Amino acid sequence: MPMLSAILAMAFFVLWTYQRQRKYILILCLSYLAVGGGFLLHYVTLPIGLLGTKFLANSLFAVAVLGLSTAMIARQGRQVPWPVLGGLVLVGMAALSWFMFVDPSLIKRLFAVNFTFAAVAFVVAAELRASVRNQLADRALMVVAILGGFNFLIRPIITVWLDGSYDESYSDFYTSASWVFLNFSAVLFSVLITLCLVTGIAMDVFEELQTESHTDPLSGLLNRRGFEGEALLCLDQSVRKGLPVALVLADLDHFKAINDTYGHSVGDRVISAFGAHLRAAGGKGAVVARIGGEEFAVVLPAVDLATARLFAEGVRASFSRDGILGLSANPGRVTASFGVAALGMGEDLAGLICRADDALYKAKKGGRDSVCLAHQHVNGRSASALRP
Ligand code: GH3
Ligand code: MG
Ligand code: MG
Repeated sequence: MPMLSAILAMAFFVLWTYQRQRKYILILCLSYLAVGGGFLLHYVTLPIGLLGTKFLANSLFAVAVLGLSTAMIARQGRQVPWPVLGGLVLVGMAALSWFMFVDPSLIKRLFAVNFTFAAVAFVVAAELRASVRNQLADRALMVVAILGGFNFLIRPIITVWLDGSYDESYSDFYTSASWVFLNFSAVLFSVLITLCLVTGIAMDVFEELQTESHTDPLSGLLNRRGFEGEALLCLDQSVRKGLPVALVLADLDHFKAINDTYGHSVGDRVISAFGAHLRAAGGKGAVVARIGGEEFAVVLPAVDLATARLFAEGVRASFSRDGILGLSANPGRVTASFGVAALGMGEDLAGLICRADDALYKAKKGGRDSVCLAHQHVNGRSASALRP
């Protein structure tokens, strides 16, 4: 067990050097070092005496259990319930000390330590249950925590029942069923926890990369690639539920002039302000994206053409009214043009974008700072756009 713990600690340390922002990986490394140290102290007796050495070994196990719990909960982005976990471990250590130094009984110590760890494992399982994401690794970790709890609870009862009693000098403990099963379960759970956590970390990194590749760093909105995936999903769900769905395309007016007059960085600020405006207006459920330099798209689920037009009008009016900080008085007013289309029967995303784009073109041609509606999609043909 000390060897396995050292290998796992090293593996987590190497992983942490690549993922330094995930501090819980370093906690895992330290936890496995503590497990290894705890087991090592069962093979040697330090100058502090037999009981002192055993007390130290159990303290290291307590640190390891707390560390593993912290790492498992922190990985889910949850607050670690320190008062509960700390309180449980303190009570456990107090009981251990009592049955070690005041009323010595190896069996009672065994129960005290194991039952404490069982309680900690069940608290961890409850915490994980409250934050299980749609990830297999999350569920597996929760199951491992529950199994770990039962292991700490039931194993000592069965093994003590099998063994009968132990000599206080530990002379028969290391040949007992208790010691064999303790080692076996420690190996099993170390491997299980590591497998689940490493898989979970890999999934987390994968998700993070995917989100990054789908996000526009300037506005924080979806980029074109992210938009296509999310918009298709949204259209699909709306069609299946028999609900309407609309697309609003927006393009900032005379944006080149803003860049030329105020500089590129002010232009960037305008883009991000308009993105934030769209996101706030779209609310939950809307798919909001920056699909080009100063072009934006919003898919509005459960929204028909008339409501989508009201949405676009609202954004147009409020954005041009608010102005942009840093732009001098009158030119500080930035406007945008909008094209709006609702998904027709049998129409796909490309067709919908095409009709909304036609409507946007009309809005530009008609003098900008306006909203144009696309004609209804008829029999697979996209009709020309209309100004409302
Ligand atoms: P219109 O009213 O017809 O839309 O005119 P416009 O000037 O907005 O359109 P045009 O397509 O001619 O110019 C778009 C400009 O947007 C050109 C490009 O330099 C600028 N642009 C594209 N991406 C960015 C960006 O990330 N930051 C900044 N600051 N400008 C950008
Ligand atoms: Mg433009
Ligand atoms: Mg443009």
